Amino acid sequence: MLDRLKGISLGNWILIGMVLGLIVGLIVNFYITDPFIKDIVLMNNVFYLGGNLFIKLMKMLVVPLVFFSIVVGVASISDIRTIGSIGGTTILIYLLTTAVAVTVALAIGIVVQPGAGLHMAGIADTANVTANQTMTDTILNMVPDNPFSSLASGDMLPVIIFGLLIGIILAKLRDETEAFNKIFTEGNRIMMEMTSIVMKFAPIGVFCLMARTFGGLGLDGLLPLGKYFVCVLIGLAIQAFVVYPSLLVIFTRLNPVKFFRRFFPVMFFAFSSSTSNATIPLNLEKLSEMGVSRDVSSFTIPLGATINMDGTAIMQGVAVMFAAQAYGIDLGTSALLTVIFTAVMASIGTAGVPSVGLVTLTMVFNSVGLPVQAIGVIFGIDHILDMFRTAVNVTGDAICTIIVSLKNKAMDVDVYNGKKPPVKEEHIM
Ligand code: ASP
Repeated sequence: MLDRLKGISLGNWILIGMVLGLIVGLIVNFYITDPFIKDIVLMNNVFYLGGNLFIKLMKMLVVPLVFFSIVVGVASISDIRTIGSIGGTTILIYLLTTAVAVTVALAIGIVVQPGAGLHMAGIADTANVTANQTMTDTILNMVPDNPFSSLASGDMLPVIIFGLLIGIILAKLRDETEAFNKIFTEGNRIMMEMTSIVMKFAPIGVFCLMARTFGGLGLDGLLPLGKYFVCVLIGLAIQAFVVYPSLLVIFTRLNPVKFFRRFFPVMFFAFSSSTSNATIPLNLEKLSEMGVSRDVSSFTIPLGATINMDGTAIMQGVAVMFAAQAYGIDLGTSALLTVIFTAVMASIGTAGVPSVGLVTLTMVFNSVGLPVQAIGVIFGIDHILDMFRTAVNVTGDAICTIIVSLKNKAMDVDVYNGKKPPVKEEHIM
C-alpha cells in the first residue's frame, strides 16, 4: 500500500489535493454550522495557514529564481543577436495570442449576449477599483530606478530587464568575469534545488487553498451571473484547447496531447493559487521535463507571467460585452478595436498575482467609456474566474515558449516525445 502511494507522481498528488480540497470545502460549507469550528478553526486558521504558507514559499522563490535563471540563461547564449531575436519573437507571439484571445471573447459576447436583459442601472455599485497605472507608466517602469529596490520589492519587469543586461554583459566579457559566472550558475542551481523541495508541499498547499475557497463560497458563488461566467469559461476553453493546440501543431508539428498530459499539474497549481508569478518555478520544471532548454524558458516564462495574460484578456473581453449589453450601450467596430488594443496593453500591465485583471479592467472600460460600476457586479464571482484564467495564462506562456524554443533549436524533441529522459538535474516531478 505504502509503496503504491509512493509511486504516485507529484503531479498526480497535486491533482488529488485539489479534488480533495474542493470536496472538503463543500462539506465544510454545507454541513459544518458551528461558526467556531468552521470560521475560526478551519477557514481562518488551518486552511488559511496551509494555503498561504505554500503561496508564500512559492513567492519566496520567484525573485531569486527568476533573476539567477535569466542571467544564467542569457549568459549561456553567446550570440547577442540570438537573444534579441528570441526576445522579439516571444513578445510578438505573446501580443498576438492575447489579441486573438480578446477577439474570441468579444465574439462570444456578441453571440451569447451575456448582459442582455440585465438592467444594470438598478444594481448597487459595490466596486471600488481603480486602474493604478497608465500604459506610459508601464513602459517607463520597465527600467529600474534602482535594481536593488526592484529586486527587493519583486517588481518583475525591471528585474527581468536588469537580469537580461547582466546576462548579456557576462556573455560578452566571458573570461574576464569567470568568478561572477560561477556565482550565478551556482546560485541558479541552489534555487532549483530549493524549488524542488518547496514543490513537495504543493499537494497540501493546493488542498488548503481549494478547501478555503469552496468552504467560503459553496456553490452559491457559481450561481449568479451564470451567463457571464459560462461565456468566460467557453472563451478560456477555446483558447486553451483550440487556439493553443492549433498553434502548437502549425508552428512545431508537436503533439498537443503530449503537452497537456504533462502540463496539467502546472494548470492545476495556477488554478489553485490564482497567480502566474508563483507558478513560474513549476512551469520551468515542467518545460524542462518536456525537453525545453532553460536558456530560453528562464527568460520567456517570467516574461510571460508578467506580460502575457490571455485568460485575463478573455475575461476582459466578455466583461466589456456584458457591461455594454447590460447598460444598453452599442459598441461599434472602432470601439471594439479599441477594446482589443487596450486589453492587450492591460495584459502587459496586469501583474501575475490574484485579481489584478479586475483592476486593469477599469482601464479597458475607460477606453470605450463604459461605466466602471459594472465591475462591481462581476466582482463577487471573479475569484473563481481568476482561478480558471490564471490556468490559461500560464498555458499561453508555455505554448509560446515551446514554439520559440523549437524555432531557436533550444528544445529536444526526443525528450518531448518521451524517447529520451529529460536532463536529470532539472527534473523534479
Ligand atoms: N491572477 C492572474 C494571474 O496571475 C491575473 C489576473 O487576471 O488577475 O495570471
